[in-house]
Amino acid sequence: MPLASVYPLVTTRALARPFTYEVPDGVGPGAHVEIRFGGTRRRGVVVSLVDEAPPGVEATPVVRVLEQLPPALVELALWVADYYGSTPGRALALVASHVRSRRFERPGPGEREGLVGEAQPPRLSATQEAALAAIGAALDGPGGRTFLLAGATGSGKTEVYLQACATVLARGRGAIVLVPEIALTPQAVGRFRARFGERVAVLHSALSEAERRDERERIADGRAPVVVGARSAVFAPVRNLCLLCVDEEHDASYKQDSDPRYDARSVAAKRAVLEGAVAVYGSATPRPESWERLERLELGGRLSGALPPVRVVDLRREAGYPLSAPLLAELGAIAEGGGKAILLLNRRGVAPALHCRACGLTLRCESCDVALVLHGDGVLRCHHCGFSEPAPELCPACSSPELARLGAGTQRLERELAARLPELERVRLDADTTARPGGVAAALAHFARTDRAVLLGTQMVAKGHHFPGVSLAAVVDADGGLGMPDFRAEERTFQLVTQLAGRSGRDAPGRVLVQTFQPDSRAIRFAARHDVAGFLAGELERRRELGYPPFRHLVRILVSGPEPAAPARALTELRDRLGEDELLGPAPLLRLRGRHRAQLVGKTSEPRRLAARAGELLAAAAPAMRKAGLRVVVDVDPQSL
Ligand code: ADP
Ligand code: ZN
Ligand code: ZN
Repeated sequence: MPLASVYPLVTTRALARPFTYEVPDGVGPGAHVEIRFGGTRRRGVVVSLVDEAPPGVEATPVVRVLEQLPPALVELALWVADYYGSTPGRALALVASHVRSRRFERPGPGEREGLVGEAQPPRLSATQEAALAAIGAALDGPGGRTFLLAGATGSGKTEVYLQACATVLARGRGAIVLVPEIALTPQAVGRFRARFGERVAVLHSALSEAERRDERERIADGRAPVVVGARSAVFAPVRNLCLLCVDEEHDASYKQDSDPRYDARSVAAKRAVLEGAVAVYGSATPRPESWERLERLELGGRLSGALPPVRVVDLRREAGYPLSAPLLAELGAIAEGGGKAILLLNRRGVAPALHCRACGLTLRCESCDVALVLHGDGVLRCHHCGFSEPAPELCPACSSPELARLGAGTQRLERELAARLPELERVRLDADTTARPGGVAAALAHFARTDRAVLLGTQMVAKGHHFPGVSLAAVVDADGGLGMPDFRAEERTFQLVTQLAGRSGRDAPGRVLVQTFQPDSRAIRFAARHDVAGFLAGELERRRELGYPPFRHLVRILVSGPEPAAPARALTELRDRLGEDELLGPAPLLRLRGRHRAQLVGKTSEPRRLAARAGELLAAAAPAMRKAGLRVVVDVDPQSL
């Protein structure tokens, strides 16, 4: 019998190597097999055939062959393992999920969740035509091309994905459409189902194990050549893949925050190269990385009229936070005349940044241009480079003593709304809602049916929902984002405000209101003008100067442990051994779940080399670190710092 190199799908790093097994004739790379391994049965993936077993190894036969994976997917997984510093076993587990034969027919998850779609528009806009022509030409070419489809919310990006998918289907080939969090965007599924019916498979984390297997089976056997799904759908075993669309490409949820810490956007580009496919990244607020690097297809403004005007409420002058007088007046008009409002409370990652209520200043690190974080000992620290200074008593810019910590909660907002405007029905969308199966769909459906209603929640309310009749969209505290100790803080704030503005007035003259203590910040100024290109130009300038992505890659090494000083000490040792690249830190972070933490951030043009070198040094230090209770995470291209 032929011999094969098989990676067992185990997570242990010590077993991250191939083992030799006998396989039946005709079985080759990509075979997903069951093996006997360490006294139990495991699954594994054949990566190559070999001539002989290593000396002293008695190869046993595999138990059975479960399925054949496309060899390109195996190559993709091995790339993920290498680039993100994971192991082949962990990365291969992303492409080889459990298999089992179908016993009875279940309605597909798409049927359960998809809302009603929309008819195909009779004519495409000129910019849509041009974008589709460019994508069509690329589909005829050698593949590996990547495009940025940039255009305001409602400029017709989804229609472009739909028609590009139709082209692909007409050629008997397959496509993957990635959306950030499918549970939050049931409309996206609805539109694909309405257009392509049973040929669409849906993959996301809220599916049951059985549903996921059914969908995978329909994908693998070609019944569902179009896959709509969240992050992990980038690994779907689509046959003859020739198109990958990444909707809302700016969304940070494309990055997985556990090992393997892959970014589905980078994986999509790599898969396009490996399979000769075309990748299309779409957004109303593209990442600076994509704006700089990808070929741009610009759709322009909204198809149905102008974007709504944005009114900036200066909280230094307006009392009443979280409900300022202008916001109360707008909500009052809805309570009286009918309509709907969306209120966003930007609590995302709010760290205790110090912020002056009189002049709006947020205290920032001079060398990293990120907010400084107030630690329990009264010291302000930079989470990038470790710079520290005692928190001042007075604002360094205007000498006001009114230095405040940023942030307020959804609950307080809800209470105030109930007290001030009891006529308005409040629908909350937050982590509690998403935790219940079907909770999001139910909340959204309820909001869609109700007049005089307010949808309030965290950043998820700004994602791709379409609601007729939303006349007001408001950001309650735009500063929460600006206070984040991350160089992407401004980008995130800009995206959030712009995306939320796109939610308002899809069919009515809508209004957008942004409450902020920092009306002059770049993110707010450009978002208020809907000036995406202007914001990105400035952002790229700043990033070029500071060596942030896309000009350099970042590698983040985070150590946590029970003792206060140990993480920083371990990272200092590591830094001294690494030596070569530009390494920032170690910077002490805030404690998390009782563990002390510190991070080292490397700026490099060779992220794999830096991560691999750090990996080797850390592996050598592993026994000592384990003894000290230290845990390490190496994150290549981190999306938050
Ligand atoms: P985006 O994905 O950029 O937000 P959509 O593709 O969802 O934009 O389009 C916004 C709205 O306009 C949808 O209701 C869609 O059906 C409609 N639409 C898209 N393309 C056209 C077109 N060429 N003519 C008329 N309506 C269109
Ligand atoms: Zn001040
Ligand atoms: Zn700094």
